[in-house]
Parts: sequence; C-alpha cells; structure tokens
Amino acid sequence: MTILSFEDLRNKSLEENKSIYRIAEEEEALLSEITVDMVRIKVLEDLTAMKSAIKNGLKSTEKAISGWCGDDCDKLKKRYRVQGALFGKVFEKITAYALATAEENLRMGRIVACPTAGSCGIVPSVIVAVAEEKNIPETKQIDGLLTAGIIGLIVSNKVQLAGAVAGCQAECGVASSMAAGALVEMLGGSTDEILQAAALAMKNILGLTCDPVCGLVEVPCIKRNAFLGVHAVTAAELALCGVESKIPIDEIVDVLQRTGQLMSPLLKETSLGGLAKTKTALELEKVLFKQD
Ligand code: SF4
Repeated sequence: MTILSFEDLRNKSLEENKSIYRIAEEEEALLSEITVDMVRIKVLEDLTAMKSAIKNGLKSTEKAISGWCGDDCDKLKKRYRVQGALFGKVFEKITAYALATAEENLRMGRIVACPTAGSCGIVPSVIVAVAEEKNIPETKQIDGLLTAGIIGLIVSNKVQLAGAVAGCQAECGVASSMAAGALVEMLGGSTDEILQAAALAMKNILGLTCDPVCGLVEVPCIKRNAFLGVHAVTAAELALCGVESKIPIDEIVDVLQRTGQLMSPLLKETSLGGLAKTKTALELEKVLFKQD
C-alpha cells in the first residue's frame, strides 16, 4: 500500500487527475497481484452479497436466540407502507435496508463486514438505497464501494477497526464515514468533496462507545446501523454544497485513535459499562443466562 494517509490520497488524486475509486482499484490490484478488472469483479461480488443480505433481511422476521431483536425492520416496513417516511423514499430505504442487513447478521445470515459485522448495514444501505432512488448504474455503485473501501483502509492504518480497541466510533463511526464518501462519489462529487464528507461523518461521531448488552451484537448495534446510515447522508449533503470540516480528516483519524486509547475499557466491548450495565440490561442478562 503506497497510500498511508488521506493527504497521500488527495495528493495522488490531484497530481495524477485520478478519481479516488481509480486509485483504490489500482492499489488493490497491486496488493492482490490481480488486474483492475478482476478487482472490479470482486467488488461486484461484494455488492451482490450486500444486496442479497438486504433482500433476505427484508423478508425475515426471525428473531435472534435472545428473542430481543429481529423484527424491527418489519415494523418499519409496515409503517412506511401506511404513511411513508417523513424524509422521503431515500430515508425510508436507508433505514429499512440498514436494519434488514444488521438483522441478517444477528441471524447468522451472510453479510459483508464493512468494515465490521456489527456495522454491516451502513455502507450497503446508503449505496443501494441511493442507487435505486437515483437510478445510479451498477458501475457507479462499484466506484462508490471502492471509495468506501479505501477510506476504511486508510483509517485502519492508524486505528484497529474494532469496538474492543477504540469503541463503536471505530466500527459504526468509520462505516458512516465510508458511506458518506461512497455517496459523494456516486453523486459525482470531487475528490475534496468525498474527503470532506468522510471527515464530517467521522468528526461528528467521535467518542461513540461500545457497550453491547450481554455481549451480543444486538443492543444497541442493530438500530445504530439505521442511525448512522442517515448520518452519512447528512455528511454527504453538507460536503456537496461546499461545507468543509475545519479539522482535516487525517487529524480527525488521529483524534479517533487517541479517543479510543482514552476510552475506559468498560466502554470497549467488555459489556462492563454503559448500556450493558443499566438496570434493564442486568435484568435481561439474568433471564438470558437463567441466573438466580
Ligand atoms: S456497539 Fe460495539 S459491538 Fe455493537 S456495533 Fe458498535 S462496536 Fe460493534
């Protein structure tokens, strides 16, 4: 990997007059010792798997073994069928697709971890919902996914993308940043607009803790996917009209990494703090593990 920072990425894009997705596919081809065409075929496979996860998730109401989750997407679909979402069709689809995918994950269905399983609904929901509503062709969706991929890859050079290392800011937060960049690419934005969208999404999710109830990737993880899909759209809209993050994205990644270090271990996937130690969570734990 010759690109270690967003500054490297921006410089290369501007100096060589290349889109971010082109750089991403060339880097991947180099790393994997395959052709760019083969990279795009593999990305299409991922995109297809994402779409299948959405489709399967939309059909199912099967609950997880805990019995807590699995039918939220269905509830949302029923509401939308009657009155539609306040913010229109794209919002409707992002929230439903994010829940559908995250619920497929809890059922042990096939999903694409992007960047992790817990945050698997964010990037697909944004790419697929916007593509459907704006008639964006498959090749542009692949460009979007490649853009998302290189954003995640660069962040992962500095921060391990795991709730256990840096909290949920490193999972759902980074996923939202990836989705924001993908969306700007799909809508024809420039290199700077893509990086601004990624920066704005990441900056506004710093400090997000990881406190899953009973250690299961269910509460708060599933619904968080829907929230952060919408968050990505906000970042993209702002970036596309020229709003900029005053703090450059590389510095935001540094803050994400340092915030992860400062975060108490109680809030990093140990389920020893936060939501996982509320009165209700402790009661759920007793029932789930049949404790006296
Ligand atoms: S709360 Fe923790 S386990 Fe759940 S998605 Fe976020 S990082 Fe992953």
